[in-house]
Amino acid sequence: MTKIEWTHRPGTKGESWNLIGGCTKVSPACDNCYALDMSWRIQNMEKRPDRYEDVCAKAVAPDVAGMEWVVRPSETLHWTGHVNLDYDALEAPYRWKAPRTVFVGSMADWLHPRVPTGFVVEMLAVMAACERHTFLCLTKRHERLPAIAELEGHVRDRWQKVPSVMSDWQWPLPNVWQGTTIENQEQADLRIPYLLQTPAAVRWVSVEPMLGAISIPPGYLKDGYYLKHGLDWVVIGGESGPNARRMEGQWAKDLIAQCDDAQVPVFVKQLSQHGFHYKLGRKIIKDLSQWQPELRRREWPK
Ligand code: SF4
Repeated sequence: MTKIEWTHRPGTKGESWNLIGGCTKVSPACDNCYALDMSWRIQNMEKRPDRYEDVCAKAVAPDVAGMEWVVRPSETLHWTGHVNLDYDALEAPYRWKAPRTVFVGSMADWLHPRVPTGFVVEMLAVMAACERHTFLCLTKRHERLPAIAELEGHVRDRWQKVPSVMSDWQWPLPNVWQGTTIENQEQADLRIPYLLQTPAAVRWVSVEPMLGAISIPPGYLKDGYYLKHGLDWVVIGGESGPNARRMEGQWAKDLIAQCDDAQVPVFVKQLSQHGFHYKLGRKIIKDLSQWQPELRRREWPK
């Protein structure tokens, strides 16, 4: 089970499927990486899955104040660069009986460069075999997305070896949604074109943490002559945590308006700790009743 709201799709249970440990930062969305803090905690637990071994570390570095080196050291938590694969965890979706909406890899990036293509094939084959579940893949490694098209033969070979498979082969996999993070305009301009070259039943973007106003060209949102299949879903969320960066309400409203024009469903996950309701201070604002009405949007693609 997971608390991530956008996995709580009606008729399904929300789940996260974690089978990769370790990552590296790649863009501004990663600055306050939640998975890094969580991985550090898990890494230091007595009993922990092996995939969290040696994935992060703390370095003691001196701070500089003005012209002097101060005595106050700061501990900086960072990824070590080790990325561990958990082959045993590949089996987990077979054990989930009721239909689930599954976030693939909430503690890492499933297309990190150190995740070999062979492991990506194994993951996709499990997704193909577990058709009762819907798998929501999300990456910041947009450059690897289009190559998913070339994996069909390999995924099909692995899928055919699963004895319980009953249905016909379909590609792209009808229960797999492909998504990328676009935290600001620069990442939107960079990553969306790669996503749109990717075969997927549903293509979605996660604008979380939302770090600036984002304008998505209408041609990327709408299906049309030039683009047979545009974006199908937009998730918006402000940053949480002690170092949360500001998200302006107007940025979310403007993006919702763009989606409405193109009839693309929108899911607003949470609002920034700052800027929406000053009386709430630094609390995460997850209670929809405290939001401005136009921001209360919790929709999924049909
Ligand atoms: S890609 Fe995700 S898990 Fe990896 S550093 Fe960035 S925010 Fe953290």
